[in-house]
Amino acid sequence: MRVPLIAGNWKMNTTLREAVELTQKMLRDLDKIKNVDKVLCPPFISLAAIGELIKGTSIKLGAQNVYFEEKGAYTGEISPLMLADLCDFVIIGHSERRQYFNETGEIVNRKIIAALKVGLKPILCIGERLEENEAGRTEEIVTNQLNSSLTEISNITGLTIAYEPVWAIGTGRAATGRQANETIGLIRRKISKLYGERVAQDLRILYGGSVTADNATEFMQQPEIDGALVGGASLKADQFVSIVRQTSELK
Ligand code: PEP
Repeated sequence: MRVPLIAGNWKMNTTLREAVELTQKMLRDLDKIKNVDKVLCPPFISLAAIGELIKGTSIKLGAQNVYFEEKGAYTGEISPLMLADLCDFVIIGHSERRQYFNETGEIVNRKIIAALKVGLKPILCIGERLEENEAGRTEEIVTNQLNSSLTEISNITGLTIAYEPVWAIGTGRAATGRQANETIGLIRRKISKLYGERVAQDLRILYGGSVTADNATEFMQQPEIDGALVGGASLKADQFVSIVRQTSELK
């Protein structure tokens, strides 16, 4: 049985004070919801403060990015060793990083290797762009992204994959539950080919892209979907709590 996971990606939103306030608004309700892993991914500068707030609760913390070197002359970067002290999860390969910061498959691969090495649990984001989707290339794109991201990684214990069609992120145009379920099933079959059926059945694969309290049920009813990576709706305490609650009821 895979425990569902809902992660809130706050992206480049919230000052330290706002991040603390947002966490305080949902802390008690989130903590009470069982059978779902709940992960908050605030900006780096808020990780330590939110880590203190959630201490002793069932809520986990994640970072939105990481560099692949452990230390040295890399001005402005944050290393896996620094994060390992603060949080459990780290989002890697988000489409916004691929698009605006030129993250290639090779960089994503190095980041995953570096994260796993220090015991961080990567949430690897993959997904096709609109023109690729319309050209019927979804399978080819996600297969290539999986192959490049997981090069020379023999053990993926701790990994979560988030299938995030780029055309659905922040657009209000979510995939349908059935579309997402189909592609996630396909990703699971690819993982089975790479790592065996047992590993594939244990792997959590999330859907991400305009998930809200209004459409969460559609996704959580799907057998292949093990949770969600939530952007915009994770900045609204009542929406995020509702998504987690629906997940707990349906999974
Ligand atoms: C995301 O940031 O990964 C995401 C899915 O954003 P949104 O929910 O806003 O589409």
